[in-house]
Amino acid sequence: MTERGMSLKGRDFGRGKGEVKFPTLEEALETVPKIHGHICTASYLGTRMGRLAMKHIKLKRKRDLCVGVEILTCAADGIAAATQCSFGSGRMVFLDHGKFSAIFCNRMTGETVRVRCTPDIDREHIAYGKQLDRFYRSLDKVTMEEALAEKAGLKKIEDVLIEKWDKLSDDEIFAVTKVEINPLDLLYPLDQQYIPDPITCYSCGDIVEKSRTIEKGGDRLCKVCAGEISMKNP
Ligand SMILES: [Zn+2]
Ligand SMILES: [Zn+2]
Repeated sequence: MTERGMSLKGRDFGRGKGEVKFPTLEEALETVPKIHGHICTASYLGTRMGRLAMKHIKLKRKRDLCVGVEILTCAADGIAAATQCSFGSGRMVFLDHGKFSAIFCNRMTGETVRVRCTPDIDREHIAYGKQLDRFYRSLDKVTMEEALAEKAGLKKIEDVLIEKWDKLSDDEIFAVTKVEINPLDLLYPLDQQYIPDPITCYSCGDIVEKSRTIEKGGDRLCKVCAGEISMKNP
């Protein structure tokens, strides 16, 4: 049997009806390394943010939940593990607000909560992030041995932070507020999610959503063939 055939055998596809049940914190933290590669400060905090939000939002169906992450960090994967909202599901959008926080919305009822870290946790996390930032910026100036030693030191600081936060209650780490938002702001437009108006690119022959093509000399070209994207079609 092919690898693919094996992988689908005996699987249920998670679409069963019944009560809306999200992963526990433990289950979500077990998922994080599988999708993210490791548990770090931001993915840890994101997991707890997502889990906490699920205690505050009433949902009849999982698919009614959508999330906006207000900064693009490892937290997004923690939130995905806890809420099962992901970029791929179209129910996680990036809101470029520059804040370590996230918005969770029941798009059917409009009920929305925002979870952010308390200022003390934020400052602690930012201070660690600055050390990490210095490390990455210094990489071209140090030897491999120096870099590995520094990285090991940073990993210890990270582990201490996570262990410390793990002993704190949600109230000590986060602030939860009710907010109002248009749920459509947390969903990608449909013509980004599928191809409602397909045409064939005159140059490469790819089928492409018409609204993403460019007309040149009377022909419709995809963005790559029109030279708008720095990628070359073979
Ligand atoms: Zn990470
Ligand atoms: Zn093309």
